Amino acid sequence: MPAGFDALNVLNTPVWLVSPVTEYLLFANSAAKEMMHDATLATLRKGPNSAHAQNALSMYVPDLKLKQDIVEIWTIGPHSQQTSLTCRLSLATFEGFGEVIVFEGIVRQPPTGLKATRSTSYQRKKQGFYARFFLTNSAPMLLIDPSRDGQIVDANLAALNFYGYTHDAMCNKHTWEINTLGRNILPVMTEIARLPGGHKPLNFVHRLADGSTRHVQTYAGPIEIYGDKLMLCIIHDITEQKRLEQELEHAAQRDSLTGLLNRRQFYHLTDQTSPAQLPAQQEFSLLLVDTDHFKRINDMFGHQKGDEVLIALSRMLESACRKDDYVFRWGGEEFVLLLPRTSLEAAMQVAETVRAAVAHIALPGLPRFTVSIGVARHNPDENIDALFKRVDDALYRAKNDGRNKVLAA
Ligand code: GH3
Ligand code: MG
Ligand code: MG
Repeated sequence: MPAGFDALNVLNTPVWLVSPVTEYLLFANSAAKEMMHDATLATLRKGPNSAHAQNALSMYVPDLKLKQDIVEIWTIGPHSQQTSLTCRLSLATFEGFGEVIVFEGIVRQPPTGLKATRSTSYQRKKQGFYARFFLTNSAPMLLIDPSRDGQIVDANLAALNFYGYTHDAMCNKHTWEINTLGRNILPVMTEIARLPGGHKPLNFVHRLADGSTRHVQTYAGPIEIYGDKLMLCIIHDITEQKRLEQELEHAAQRDSLTGLLNRRQFYHLTDQTSPAQLPAQQEFSLLLVDTDHFKRINDMFGHQKGDEVLIALSRMLESACRKDDYVFRWGGEEFVLLLPRTSLEAAMQVAETVRAAVAHIALPGLPRFTVSIGVARHNPDENIDALFKRVDDALYRAKNDGRNKVLAA
C-alpha cells in the first residue's frame, strides 16, 4: 500500500480509493475497513441496498472533472443487518496511480423525533406555476416531505397512473413504502434533501400498487413550495432499458445456439490480471470435450438435426456439472468444462461420467453418439495456451485411441 494513503486512516470518515479504469479497490482507510466486513467493492456498489447512476466507474470521470455532485448508495454491514451508506464521489490524482475516484462515506445519525406539525397548506394552493408545472407534467412526480418520515404529500396524474394508486392512497404512503430499499431510503433522502440539487439521478426499484416492481431513475432535489421545504422527485421508468441491458449482457456472454457461456467468457474468467471471479489460488481442471464423428451426423441427418444434438449435449454437460463448474461452447462441436478446485483424479471421474452419460442420450430419429475427452489440471503459473496445448494433445490421443475415450494430459 502506498505510504501516502496512510494519512487517511486518521479520518473518522470512511474513505475508499478506487481506480476508475480497473475498478480495483486501491485503498480503504481504517473507518472504511471497519464497515466492509468481508465485502468487496462489487458487493458494496451492487448489493441489495445499493443505487448508482453508472455501472462502470469510468463513466463518472468526465462529470467528476467538471466537479459535478455525484453520489452513490452502497450496501454495508453483515448479511443479516445490511444498511445503506451514501458516498460522495470526487476525483484525485496520486503519483503512480493516475486518476483515482475517492468515495467518501457520509455517516450521519438518523434523525430522531419527527416533526409532525408541518402544514400541508400547499395542497390548498395548487395554483399558478406549481399547478401548471407539477400537475400537468407527463413525467411521474412525487412531492415528498423529508421531515415527516418521507411522507408523500402530493403526486401528479402521471405518478398515479404509474404507481396505480388513487391520489388519497398515494398521499397516505411514504417513500419507503414504494422504494424496495424500505426504511433504508430515509438517510439517503435526508442526504439528497441537503444537496443543492442538480446531482446525478439515482437508480432504484419501486413497488407499484399491484405488487410488481419497476426499475426507476429518480431525479430528486429540494424544492420550497409556499414556505414548505419539500423534495420533488421525478421518476423515469427504465425497466425496459434495464431488460435490454441485461439481454445484451447475456447475449455477449453466451453462445446463441446452446445458451452456454462463450469462449470470451472463458478467457475473462481465467484471466488472472482482471478482477475476475476466479482467483488464482483456485486451481482448476479442464475438460475438452469433442463430439465423435459429428460431421457424419450432419451429413446423414442435416445441419438442423446436428444442432439438436449439440443442444441436447449441452444440457447433458450442464446436468453432469457441479454447482461451481462452468460449461463453455468452445466452438463447433467442442465444449470446455472448467472445474474449480478440482484434482486431476476428480476431473477424470467427472469426464468419465460425462462420457458414459452421452453414450446414453437417445434422441428421436437419431443414432447414439459419443464424445472423446481430454483432461488436464492447471499447473500453478501455467498460462492458458500451454494448458490448452496439453489438454488438446490428450484429446487427440483419445481420438486416435478409437474415440469414446477419456485421457489425461
Ligand atoms: P472427430 O471424431 O474427429 O472429431 O470427427 P468430427 O466429424 O466430429 O470432426 P470434424 O472437425 O471433421 O467435424 C466437425 C463438424 O462440426 C464440422 C462442422 O460442419 C460441424 N459443426 C460445427 N459447428 C456446427 C454447428 O453449430 N451446427 C452443426 N449442425 N454442425 C456444426
Ligand atoms: Mg472438433
Ligand atoms: Mg468432432
